[in-house]
Amino acid sequence: MEKIKVLIIGSGPAGFTSAIYTSRANLSPVLYEGIEPGGQLTTTTEIENFPGYPEGITGTAMMEDLKKQALRFGADVRRGIITDIDLSERPFKVTVDHEHKIEAESVIVCTGASAKYLGLESEAKYRGMGVSACATCDGFFYRKQDVAVVGGGDTACEEATYLASICRKVYLVVRKNYLRASKAMQERVFNTPNIEVLFEHNTREVLGDENGVTGALLYHSVTGEERTIDITGFFLAIGHHPNTEVFKGQLALDEQGYIKVEPGTSKTSVEGVFAAGDVKDPHYRQAITAAGSGCIAALDCERWLLAQ
Ligand code: NDP
Repeated sequence: MEKIKVLIIGSGPAGFTSAIYTSRANLSPVLYEGIEPGGQLTTTTEIENFPGYPEGITGTAMMEDLKKQALRFGADVRRGIITDIDLSERPFKVTVDHEHKIEAESVIVCTGASAKYLGLESEAKYRGMGVSACATCDGFFYRKQDVAVVGGGDTACEEATYLASICRKVYLVVRKNYLRASKAMQERVFNTPNIEVLFEHNTREVLGDENGVTGALLYHSVTGEERTIDITGFFLAIGHHPNTEVFKGQLALDEQGYIKVEPGTSKTSVEGVFAAGDVKDPHYRQAITAAGSGCIAALDCERWLLAQ
C-alpha cells in the first residue's frame, strides 16, 4: 500500500497553492486533479482580477502556471478521482479510481464547488461566449451592454445589482412570482432603475451567432407566452453545489453540503483533515480567496504534522 504524508484532493487555485506550500516545506504532497483538472477557472475566459496579472490571463493559462509552479517544487500531480475515503482512523484510507489504495497521514480537501446550469444545449454552446456563472469574474466584459441574470436568490440579486452598476440594462429572470432573496437584497434590486425583474419567466433557448450570445428566448411559466430579450451576456445564478459527496457522513457539512471549518482556520471536524477553497466557502468563491485559503490549509497541515 502506498503511504503518503499529505494528500491534496482537487486542482483549482486552492489545491495548487496547498501543493506549492507543502512541497516547499518538504512534505512531498501528492495531488489528485479530480474530475475537472484545473477546476472552475478553466471554464471562464479572461481573469482580470487576480492580483499580479496587469494584462489579465486566461483561466486555463493561470491553472497551467499554478501547476508548473507546484511541479517545480516537487509536488506529485496525478490524474485521478478519489472514489472512496475512510477518515474514521489515521492513517486515512483512500481509494483512487476504484482501485489504487493509499494511506495518507493528512488530507487537504480542495474539491471546489460547481455552478448549476439550466441544462440547455444552447447554454452549453455559448459557455464562455456570453454564458457565464460568475458575474464578478465576467461582468466587466459586458459594460454598457444589456445582460440577463437567471435566479431569484441572494446570489442572483447581488449579481444583478453588481452588473447594473456596469451594464446598461439587466433583466433578472425569475421562475416564480417572488424572489427568494433576503428582503434587503430584494430592496436593492427594486431600487435599481436599470434592473427589470421578469417574474414567472423561464429560458427556452440562449440565442447567438459566431460571435457569442445575442439574446434569450423566454417563456412565461403560467401562460407559456414567449418573449425574446436582446442581450450579450447571460448569467446563471441558480446556485452551486459543493463537491463533497465522498465526504458525506465523515466530515461535518453545513445544510448545503459545504465543509464546516473551525473559524479562521482550515481545520475540519476530523483531526488531520483540512479544507480550502470553494468546498468550504459558499460566500466569496474567488480565485484569490481560494488560493489564500489553500495557503492557510498548507500551513495548518504542516504545523499539525510537526506536532505529531
Ligand atoms: P439559492 O439556492 O438561494 O437560490 C437559487 C435561485 O435560483 C432560486 O431563486 C431558484 O428558484 C433559482 N433556480 C434554481 N434552479 C433554477 C432553474 N433551473 N431555473 C430557474 N431558476 C432556478 O442560491 P444562491 O446562490 O442565491 O444562494 C446560496 C446561499 O448563499 C443562500 O443561503 C444565500 O442566502 C447565500 N448567499 C448570501 C449572500 C449574502 O448574504 N450577501 C450572497 C449570496 C448568497 P426558486 O426560488 O424557484 O427555487
